[in-house]
Amino acid sequence: MATGRMYKERVDRVTDEKNEIWDVIVVGAGPGGATCAWKCAAAGLKVLILERAAVLPRYKPCGGGIPASLMRDVSGFENPEEFADLTVTRLRHSWKGKSPIVADMTTSTGEPAQVWMVQRPRFDNYLVQRAQSQGATLLMGVKVTGIAVTTDAVTLSAEGQEWRSRYVVGADGAKGIIGPRAGLRLGRRYGIAREIEIPTAKPDSVSSEGELSEGELSEGELSERELLPGTAYLDYGTVPNGYAWIFPKDGFLSVGAGMLLPKQPTAEAERGVGLVLKRAIDIMLGSVGRTYPLGEDAPRLWAHPIPFWTGAEPLATADGRVLLIGDAAGVVQPLFGEGIQYAIRTGDLAATHLIAGTTQQYTDSVRDQFAAEFDAALRVGKVFHRAPYLSYRLGVKNPAGTRLVGRIMAGEASFAALENRIYERLRNPLQR
Ligand SMILES: Cc1cc2nc3c(=O)[nH]c(=O)nc-3n(C[C@H](O)[C@H](O)[C@H](O)COP(=O)(O)OP(=O)(O)OC[C@H]3O[C@@H](n4cnc5c(N)ncnc54)[C@H](O)[C@@H]3O)c2cc1C
Repeated sequence: MATGRMYKERVDRVTDEKNEIWDVIVVGAGPGGATCAWKCAAAGLKVLILERAAVLPRYKPCGGGIPASLMRDVSGFENPEEFADLTVTRLRHSWKGKSPIVADMTTSTGEPAQVWMVQRPRFDNYLVQRAQSQGATLLMGVKVTGIAVTTDAVTLSAEGQEWRSRYVVGADGAKGIIGPRAGLRLGRRYGIAREIEIPTAKPDSVSSEGELSEGELSEGELSERELLPGTAYLDYGTVPNGYAWIFPKDGFLSVGAGMLLPKQPTAEAERGVGLVLKRAIDIMLGSVGRTYPLGEDAPRLWAHPIPFWTGAEPLATADGRVLLIGDAAGVVQPLFGEGIQYAIRTGDLAATHLIAGTTQQYTDSVRDQFAAEFDAALRVGKVFHRAPYLSYRLGVKNPAGTRLVGRIMAGEASFAALENRIYERLRNPLQR
């Protein structure tokens, strides 16, 4: 049972050569797991990270967009030049590749707001090395398959090997096994996203020049200025219950599309969704005059599940010995499928509870921090996807609406504010 005596337990820990007991084992070395391991290790806990990938850095299909407001919420992200390729400060929205609108992202005081663009292999590896530098131990090529919880410890197993720990953090991603095997998140649901990386000349993606005035651009202006510098692209209408994106990186573009809630989560429906997403990617790229090679030279088109936020549910076992974070916990913002900052924030939160020995309160902390916002995002999504074209015309392609969406993407405004605006607009459709 978790109590505030964790440090004392550590001092009293009996470890023999064969049966070492860790304070915390983190399963999965993504941004959630690495952040949790870093904070626990920095507080003096004995931390082991078990990672399935044979070697790190490993690739993870992802757009890699993280609001810079993260550094306000969690410590340790003050130097983005150490882990991010570049920042974007502007969003370009479009409907089926057409009818675009461009808007700067700003804070509530009108300052520029930023979204970092990270390459996941580089970013995740940075976070893991940071955890190691605080004393966390990393074992790669370990795919955990079993978990057994007893009164005083948790035993993890993989291919005939076992590790014992006082606490286990399931940071093993969307299809992680720790949750279900510990009796958590048994009814989880998924969306799907596909992503492809297209090499591009660096000047396209670097936000140095290219002063633009905010607002609507004609098709002609767009083709001249295709790939606006310092800009992330979002397209609606091609993917039901989802959207497509182009996020610039240093030397390539991450182009993808995600359907956050497939209507019927069957294998056949997923195949159909995969085709819809590929088409959306092609339309998105075509709208900015880009293609990618086919045949042998074709870049890999990845597919990966995105957990769907299903509301408040236990994210720790009753005894507080097993906790879930990030995608494994389903803490993914349900309108855009944004999960990196939430993996980091739940990793940080789990570490706070592990250090204090209050893991039984972890679920309540997650609920307090994220439930109201995610529930509002879900309701906004339902309105948007019920009448997507109307929502685009009246909501997104409207200077005030675009500004608000930009502030949300940059972590500077809430979905509750967007929800209020939608209801105001419904009451008064002529309002700008
Ligand atoms: C195509 C796509 C685009 C996305 N774009 C964005 C974006 O732009 N911005 C954003 O914020 N979010 C985005 N997301 C979501 C984001 O990628 C996830 O929310 C984020 O990776 C979650 O981090 P995590 O640490 O919880 O899990 P992960 O990053 O998935 O890490 C889990 C780790 O656990 C390891 N693991 C799994 N099982 C085991 C096991 N049994 N034993 C040991 N190790 C195991 C895996 O190898 C992996 O390293 C996107 C997702 C997709 C699919």
